[in-house]
Amino acid sequence: MPNAQLPITNYQFPMPKADILVIDDTPENLALLSQILKDKNYKVRSVTKASTALRGAKAAPPDLILLDVKMPEMNGYEVCQHLKADESTRDIPVIFISALGDVLDKVKAFEVGGVDYITKPLQVEEVLARIETHLTIRRLQKQLQTQNKHLQQEISQRAAAEEKFAKAFRSSPNPIAINTLAENSFVDINSSFSEITGYSQTEIIGESANNLNIWVNPQLYDFSVKKLLEKGSLHNIECQLRSQQGEIKTVLLSIELIELNGLACTLNIINDITERKRLEDEFISLVSHELRTPMNSIIGALDLLNTQQLGTLTDKGKQIINIAINNTERLIRLVNDILDLERIKSGKITMQPSKSNAAELLIQAAATMESMADSAQIYLNVEPASTEIIVDSDRILQALTNLLSNAIKFSEPGQTVYLRSIIKSNYLQIEIQDQGRGIPADKIQLIFERFVQVDASDSRSKGGTGLGLPICRSIIEQHKGKIWVESIFGKGSTFYIHLPIVGNW
Ligand code: ADP
Repeated sequence: MPNAQLPITNYQFPMPKADILVIDDTPENLALLSQILKDKNYKVRSVTKASTALRGAKAAPPDLILLDVKMPEMNGYEVCQHLKADESTRDIPVIFISALGDVLDKVKAFEVGGVDYITKPLQVEEVLARIETHLTIRRLQKQLQTQNKHLQQEISQRAAAEEKFAKAFRSSPNPIAINTLAENSFVDINSSFSEITGYSQTEIIGESANNLNIWVNPQLYDFSVKKLLEKGSLHNIECQLRSQQGEIKTVLLSIELIELNGLACTLNIINDITERKRLEDEFISLVSHELRTPMNSIIGALDLLNTQQLGTLTDKGKQIINIAINNTERLIRLVNDILDLERIKSGKITMQPSKSNAAELLIQAAATMESMADSAQIYLNVEPASTEIIVDSDRILQALTNLLSNAIKFSEPGQTVYLRSIIKSNYLQIEIQDQGRGIPADKIQLIFERFVQVDASDSRSKGGTGLGLPICRSIIEQHKGKIWVESIFGKGSTFYIHLPIVGNW
């Protein structure tokens, strides 16, 4: 069936300003009031009987009621009382109308819930002004009520979210701490955090992580927070945490920024991987140990072949043997470094402290590296300060030669490498400075980790293993010292070591 075409009109009736219910037993009054209001574009319902008015108001609550005081069946005050007693009509503003000759009990009018009154004969402008005022008040009231409702909803949603977070925080098997961003002081910790660090809530809250010495490498933590501010969140940074009893734990740290009562805070979520790391270390050292003997026999065999005692080699044969020797030596270095690091870290190699002169150590380290510097055409400049320190001189020499070897490796011919010692109040500062390629800012915190090399080709081109710096760090830490690097990419690096002068370790 074809669609019936309806006539289209473009005329739109203006929306009425408000819905007003007028209750008056005198039809002439009603007619007059209705006309005044309709002329002003109000929607008007007029009723002469109180009972009909109450039913109508309940069925479709108007925006405002004009109510005659004097009515036969039920007077205006009673009607108003009924309206106020009912939930659905309670909030409708009621304006009383009284004739000039009638006695209007104004107090009663307000007591029963009226908001205003007007007297007959009606002053049109006054009536309209009063109606408009009360409609505006009512509109604002409604607005406030809706806003309140929204706020209440928001509050309950937030409360639910907070409860969820609080439960996850409390019962998480992962240690979690909330710290202030500015001072890094503890605001709250969960019981898993208390367990891993050994600190109770009362011992830790309000204290700063730096004062408690919680992070073994606080610079790494500060660097991570800097990255966090750039990125918004940070995941699984491997670092070490020191418990109250001095136990070191290896953890993966994830940090989120949160706001707590207007205070910028960090949410630090920890994953304890100490055991996993221990197994990993154990496995690596076991494999390395097993590799050492066969590798030594391989290098022995290759060296023997290279001497040509077992037969003459062609030039190609010599070339291949040399490549094999180079690679095998690199592997042996790697295996030795792994075992060395593992033994220093685990304390299997105990330090043998004795009185040494710092200046002599520096000169000895430079002398050891002289031939390497010469062949790389690097100048070695030593500025030693003479002071007694109590150290394991072999191990400190190992660390210094390692750092000098790096400085030489990563410098260009003609450049200078400086080795200095400076006496500070109660420690000795040693500096190894080069003018070489430098270290990119994002790698500075990482190069003291195992197997980290800035450039993947370094191990081949420079012959390194990525274990030199972790070994240096372990040696210096065993001496209760500190090691770190400052570097400008493209301009050079300076490695700093602090060693206690009064050896009480
Ligand atoms: P490697 O055996 O590779 O030298 P290290 O642990 O000693 O291992 O050093 C790790 C990495 O740090 C190096 O591969 C190199 O990328 C970087 N590095 C160390 N020292 C310097 C330096 N003085 N200048 C530039 N880069 C350096």
